[in-house]
Amino acid sequence: MRHVPGDLLKGGHLVGGRWVGAAGGGAAEVANPATDEVLATVPWGGGEDARRAVDAAAAALPEWRARTAAERAEPLRRLASLMLERREDLALLMTLEQGKPLAEARGEVAYAASFVDWAAEEGKRLYGELVPSSHRDKRILVLRQPLGVTAAITPWNFPAAMITRKLGPALAAGCAMVVKPAPQTPLSALAVGALAEEAGIPPGVVNVVCGDAEAIGDALLADPRVRKLSFTGSTEVGRILMAKAARNLTRLSLELGGHAPFLVFDDADVDAAVAGLLASKYRNMGQTCVCPNRILVQGGVYEAFVDRLAGAVAALKVGPGWEEGVRIGPLVDDEAVAKVERHVRDAVSKGARLRAGGERVRPGAGLADRFFAPTVLEDFTPDMELSHEETFGPVSPVRRFETEEEALELANDSPYGLASYFYTRDAARLIRVAEALEYGIVGANDGAPSTAQAPFGGVKHSGFGREGGRYVMDEYVNVKYVSWGGL
Ligand code: ADP
Repeated sequence: MRHVPGDLLKGGHLVGGRWVGAAGGGAAEVANPATDEVLATVPWGGGEDARRAVDAAAAALPEWRARTAAERAEPLRRLASLMLERREDLALLMTLEQGKPLAEARGEVAYAASFVDWAAEEGKRLYGELVPSSHRDKRILVLRQPLGVTAAITPWNFPAAMITRKLGPALAAGCAMVVKPAPQTPLSALAVGALAEEAGIPPGVVNVVCGDAEAIGDALLADPRVRKLSFTGSTEVGRILMAKAARNLTRLSLELGGHAPFLVFDDADVDAAVAGLLASKYRNMGQTCVCPNRILVQGGVYEAFVDRLAGAVAALKVGPGWEEGVRIGPLVDDEAVAKVERHVRDAVSKGARLRAGGERVRPGAGLADRFFAPTVLEDFTPDMELSHEETFGPVSPVRRFETEEEALELANDSPYGLASYFYTRDAARLIRVAEALEYGIVGANDGAPSTAQAPFGGVKHSGFGREGGRYVMDEYVNVKYVSWGGL
């Protein structure tokens, strides 16, 4: 197999433009989830490392903030280009440390670069306003100014894109950033840091520290210089961070868990619905916060849909991500497979019927026991764990519904509100259902709605804040007004 070139395989924290060890000397190994092979050792830091990174960001901030948007856009565009030039290397690194199939990893690199590219341009449109006053001799001047030092805590499922969709807009707006990646995938984060340096983003504007999540999170939220934390991860951790953010009233964006409904109406194009579900559910082995967890199918197309789905799912190739044609790689760690297994067993014990998969598989010699066969389950009910908890694995639970009203009631019966999907060819129903779904994202005849131009984010227990589109820039600016008198 090819190797990841050394310039992208970093074994240090990136702080103030230097690659350094952890303040306390700690280190952690990063292993390939498909084989347990150790890929590299990275520093394992804590609060002191976070403080040093904030020092570096604070020192870099004045020069970066003072630049024009075009001056900031130049190295950002270079970063996006470098990511695309190094796409094969970054994708291989991602597949090796995270497990996703190489084709998906290539797709993620392009997706990750698109956030930087989009933000570089959007930074030029941080317009203010001149508001007429109620006094003849006054005007109100509205400014949008960068927040200052910001922080990002990111998950392992999209090791590059979850960083760049925070980093791109933060930097484009004139902020500096400290990134703490997930412990499973620090290497992709450090590689993005290395390319940011190569692109000419000044030292200290981007910093990456790995290690004890709680200690680093606490240090970031205890530091009044950190004006914003953007977090993507579980609802449970989001709640903890929100409580801790109270201390300095640190601004937050929280992109948390989801439990997406996927509705297929009688008037749907069934083949398109099956293709949409395959794309949405089995991407990244079902380890995404937007993937469908409750598939609700109307009686008239139910049998046709389930038959085609079960056939298509059984044909998905399971194996290590770097192998040609593989669609389902290993799950990220032992805990992840154990949870999927628990959910499937619980559902089957409560009456769900297996139509495909349902257990771990060993797709080759020398591979770790983290591969789970892509699964389809019929007749899930509300008492099953997978009906209300995120499975985060390649499992489609399907059930039947009869009326639109019933479908909407089932779909909205969740504390989460991130993504939702539905398939119909009726234009009136399309608008009706799209408006009634209590979710931040609706895929209407679309299983893959995410893109840099759109405002990604949730409602209810899926959090708040929007990433992407022109909306994301608001996450990284303060609105200030100047009341201008004596005219
Ligand atoms: P997941 O279940 O996807 O791993 P988590 O919410 O546990 O989701 O993790 C997302 C990110 O949050 C990771 O970078 C992780 O290290 C970090 N994290 C976990 N616990 C805490 C915490 N108490 N404080 C700050 N960050 C945390």
